[in-house]
Amino acid sequence: MTPDDERLLRRALELAAAARAAGHAPFASLLAGPDGEVLIEAHNTVAADNDISAHPELKLARWAASELDPATAAGTTMYTSCQPCGMCQGGIERSGLGRVVFALSTEQLTALKPPAPPLALRLDGPALPDEAGVPVAGYYL
Ligand SMILES: [Zn+2]
Repeated sequence: MTPDDERLLRRALELAAAARAAGHAPFASLLAGPDGEVLIEAHNTVAADNDISAHPELKLARWAASELDPATAAGTTMYTSCQPCGMCQGGIERSGLGRVVFALSTEQLTALKPPAPPLALRLDGPALPDEAGVPVAGYYL
């Protein structure tokens, strides 16, 4: 952690506090360029947008993927109030961002929340791999 990392991470925490004060969930993120310049900021708008994907980390990853070339994206750092969830981490990886710095781990966040039952996704498959491979075969050549 550099002094710039701490400054930018504290900015993300300010945004999270402002989000909560404005009635949103208390999570926020920003994306900074290689010299520490802030490119874009976002906060959680899941409730306001009625959109389960409106996490700030995913918003920034989507912005980077559409607005930055791959080399520029790789030179950015995301500063975020909490460790990205699995959904956001997947988006961040696909967007090609270079680094993520978070202030609160998932474990630490969980300790601040009321107990909740674990997610119970049933994932069955591969069920029809030969048929499913037909439209994909040759696509990546
Ligand atoms: Zn997320």
